[in-house]
Amino acid sequence: MKLLQRRRAPGTVREKHFSLSLRGRSVPLVVRKNPRAKRIIVRLSGDGDGVVVTVPARTAFDEGVRAAKRNADWIIQRLDAVPPRLPFADGVAIPILGRDHTIRYRAKGRSGVHLEDGELVVTGPDALLAGRVDRWLKKRARTEITVRVAAKTARLGRPAGRITVRDTRSRWGSCSSRGNLSFCWRLVMAPEAVLDYVVAHEVGHLAVPNHGPQFWRTVATLTDDVESARLWLRRYGRALHRYG
Ligand SMILES: [Zn+2]
Repeated sequence: MKLLQRRRAPGTVREKHFSLSLRGRSVPLVVRKNPRAKRIIVRLSGDGDGVVVTVPARTAFDEGVRAAKRNADWIIQRLDAVPPRLPFADGVAIPILGRDHTIRYRAKGRSGVHLEDGELVVTGPDALLAGRVDRWLKKRARTEITVRVAAKTARLGRPAGRITVRDTRSRWGSCSSRGNLSFCWRLVMAPEAVLDYVVAHEVGHLAVPNHGPQFWRTVATLTDDVESARLWLRRYGRALHRYG
């Protein structure tokens, strides 16, 4: 199919953001051009809060918007089926490395946030609870990810650049051409084997930049169960975006 490929003019816009009004609801919409797309595909965004429409490279962005409007019923149905958000609050159970921990607020006691008998205990002014849990989880994510990057880069014999941990929505991790690694902090809520796989995947890119057989062989030397981890992310990954 090489002959059919055309080079994209530099600076071509690849995606546009819209706010869609569907049945009186405002729904964020991204229309994305994909040179490999053969037809228009409408789906929910990774966090389940909006819509992503993929269109072939030569299709106008407006065509993507029209496709979303034509699928209004389906979109509303799917949006309603997405589990509700779970803000960090007293009594809410959140997974840490895949195990549920209930958030417990205590007005007094050892200050800050700490784990105690399977609960995440938060003290201090209760107005600050959500922010404290959020920061604690991000810090924990950074720690868990950093130790794994260190172990795996040592095994691979290739150093990593900077490690960034943030709230990425479209991907769980990435590796730049300079070897800088970026991860979604929400991985700290996934089972340990899943977090381990995503780290192995990005560290694997330090040796092999593509997703060919050599890459997957490398990843398999850095983590235990690639297939179950990938399956878990496809099935349950979106649910991690409900928290906080
Ligand atoms: Zn990859």
